Amino acid sequence: MKKIETVLKEYYGYDHFRPGQEELIEAILKGQDALGIMPTGGGKSLCYQIPAICMEGTGIVISPLISLMKDQVDALQTMGVRAGFINSQLDKATYLNTMDKALFGYYDLLYIAPERIASEHFLNTISHMNINMVAVDEAHCISQWGQDFRPSYQTIPQLRDIVPEHVPFAAFTATATTQVQEDISQQLRLQKPNKFVASFDRPNLYFSVVQSKKKSQDLLSRINEEGSTIIYCNTRKNVESVYHNLVKKGFDVTYYHAGISAEERIKNQDDFIYDRKPIMVATNAFGMGIDKSNVRKVIHYNMPLNMESYYQEAGRAGRDGAPSEAILFYSGQDIITNTFLIEQGNQPHAKEKLNRMITYCKTGQCLRAYILNYFDEHPEWERCEQCSNCDGHTETIDVTVDCQKILSCIHRMDQRFGAGMVTDVLRGKNNQRIRSLQFDQLSTYGIMAKKTDERIKDIISLMIGDGYLALSGDKYPILTFTNKTNALLQAQDKLLMTYKIVDKVAHDKVDTQ
Ligand code: ADP
Repeated sequence: MKKIETVLKEYYGYDHFRPGQEELIEAILKGQDALGIMPTGGGKSLCYQIPAICMEGTGIVISPLISLMKDQVDALQTMGVRAGFINSQLDKATYLNTMDKALFGYYDLLYIAPERIASEHFLNTISHMNINMVAVDEAHCISQWGQDFRPSYQTIPQLRDIVPEHVPFAAFTATATTQVQEDISQQLRLQKPNKFVASFDRPNLYFSVVQSKKKSQDLLSRINEEGSTIIYCNTRKNVESVYHNLVKKGFDVTYYHAGISAEERIKNQDDFIYDRKPIMVATNAFGMGIDKSNVRKVIHYNMPLNMESYYQEAGRAGRDGAPSEAILFYSGQDIITNTFLIEQGNQPHAKEKLNRMITYCKTGQCLRAYILNYFDEHPEWERCEQCSNCDGHTETIDVTVDCQKILSCIHRMDQRFGAGMVTDVLRGKNNQRIRSLQFDQLSTYGIMAKKTDERIKDIISLMIGDGYLALSGDKYPILTFTNKTNALLQAQDKLLMTYKIVDKVAHDKVDTQ
């Protein structure tokens, strides 16, 4: 059997293993199951490629990223590894040809899309092959607690019954809370897996959260063309509008989303990767599998739906280890949009995940500590002194009384309206709609006249985030009570809100619109 250090040097050209790689490779070589949790770019692929190269027989790699399979396989072939792939993009003849070669033991590594496992022909072939390992990439897709649950992953355990018992299963993911890790182990029936969890800390990243009412202006003050920047937006429409704004201001910028032609996508992506354009504006469709090490800033123009997505995208900054920034802009509107989106969908646990995301935006705690805690890491320090909260420009205030005013108003309006209308009534706005519904007669009419619209909407968002209010309705989101609402109304629960000091000054000015 080839020595693993030799393979590392001869095939990949590297001198040293990264933390965790050697342990995981050794475990697989010994026939033990393995579970590798490493951040994106941490070097997971090597952990299953090297054992497959070293052992007799074929290693199976299950990966959901169909579009990247061909590139990965091409790269392996260039290195002299006999690799192949099977997914829905293959025509029948190529599929049969690949399966034939697989059957006769041609491959070191065979990548397959999880959908394949359901095919009887495929399972039959597998049962006659000499399999040396089954690696499951993006293993969090098997868990309903992961942010990217895929039902097709639940067929993977079937392979356990087909391949001989001594064949090790190895699972890899970049995003796994303890809960997801346990779920992966259980569902894949990993036997006392050799587990390696790399630290999720990224010491070279400066994290900041910016509450922003005028995002396009705030964005301009934070970008420049020194080093590469990715700006993530939540919709194609926002991508285009941010892109056009930046072009108008003279920035050298490109954009990417799933709605543009494949040709243009490749061109724009390459312009960014090869440093022809320093700024990329994109939806989350951009970035999977992109290995660009010198991204200096990742800016989120909108709040993502969960911390896993956020950290994965933000983590594309500073892969080379040089100081870089991850900036998140958010507004009350983001919270409302995201909550509504989630309530339309049926992803399990999406709501709890969004709540944690909202808390990240609102917390006065160290942002890095918050992220690490989320991934079940517990650093010894409390403050990293390297994030916008540790810089100390925040203040936490008790907004329980404001919450009670808002909730009373929602109650008096029969829980039939959205945040805009509730805010108008609380501010005491005098318009036809309010008069015709006689909301100007309510005792809560105008009781928050001295607050700004933003302040009221922020508090509403905070209540949504903490589960004191829900959004329902088909056409537009309506604020309704939850089983937690009463506790806040009766001040058994208290709600705290963290402001940046600069924001607070602006917030306390009465807006006159
Ligand atoms: P992941 O799958 O965890 O996102 P990859 O396996 O794609 O990460 O690895 C990310 C990059 O790091 C790749 O360019 C890879 O070649 C490189 N890499 C992996 N292991 C090592 C190592 N031991 N030494 C140097 N570079 C490495």
